[in-house]
Amino acid sequence: MKKIGFIGLGNMGLPMANNISKAGIEVNAFDLSEKALIHAENLGMSIKQDSKGVLEDIDALITMLPNGSSVEKIFLEDNLLEVINKRTLIIESSTISPGISKKISTIAKNHGISMLDAPVSGGVKGAELGNLTFIVGGSQADLEKGLSLFKIMGDKIFYAGESGSGQIAKLCNNMLLAVHMCGTAETLALGVNNGLDPVVLSEIMKNSSGGNWSLEKYNPYPGVMETAPASENYSGGFLNSLMLKDLKLASELALGSKSTTPMGKLAMQLYEEMMDDGFGTLDFSSIQKKYL
Ligand code: NAD
Repeated sequence: MKKIGFIGLGNMGLPMANNISKAGIEVNAFDLSEKALIHAENLGMSIKQDSKGVLEDIDALITMLPNGSSVEKIFLEDNLLEVINKRTLIIESSTISPGISKKISTIAKNHGISMLDAPVSGGVKGAELGNLTFIVGGSQADLEKGLSLFKIMGDKIFYAGESGSGQIAKLCNNMLLAVHMCGTAETLALGVNNGLDPVVLSEIMKNSSGGNWSLEKYNPYPGVMETAPASENYSGGFLNSLMLKDLKLASELALGSKSTTPMGKLAMQLYEEMMDDGFGTLDFSSIQKKYL
């Protein structure tokens, strides 16, 4: 790969595109935000004024957009699938509904274009460090074509199955993440309210049967883990608004497949309350605030 297009230069997209640029691959970049474009230009990317502008002479197009409607806007309303060179591999890395993902990749296929859904896990830090996990849906042959790019941006690449499967696996993961984050937050508060030190309790549970990712990597209790958003007033990281979006998508998935997900539903309700309380732009570990 010599040159790629990148659309969506937000918290995740900008560091991902920067890692590709640092690896010596030219990047044509576009975002609706002027500020994001200035950042991209300062990092050595070639900025474009619209989505079609990024397509010139590229081997792959990566999109990292907030939601399904922005992905539909780019691929369907802006008609990118009509004009993109057929040899361009599309890697759609936003977290969106598996239904929208399947719909767009079917249209792409009908135009003779290869498209992968490749949502990520690992957050902004993972995007910066280039150690994201990619969860890929589509054809395995297309995954092989994109492997060199995935390896620049991530260190774990999973093939989940046909188009849309990457999104399904990602939503399952995030529903579980929300459930264990909510459980971790209320449990830490229970211990503290009964006289325990949150650092000591975290260490005990992390090394016992209650151990989980939130305790190991992302402790929600302020001051327990220096590098976690909880110790920086819950700023940055993975926003409550994005977690709620994913829980709603998981709930739709459950409804469509007649799956029973009471814990997922309860987590969704708790994150809805966080939005109502005006905490949409805080990191999702701020669910701890409910119990402080
Ligand atoms: P973000 O809001 O920071 O960035 C999205 C960017 O897309 C913004 O810069 C916005 O201006 C741009 N954009 C929106 N519509 C556009 C359009 N039509 N054309 C061009 N640019 C457009 O979001 P983010 O945190 O970078 O997340 C991106 C995706 O990654 C989301 O789907 C999210 O669920 C997923 N994700 C985020 C995290 C995280 O920790 N932030 C982790 C894993 C996955």
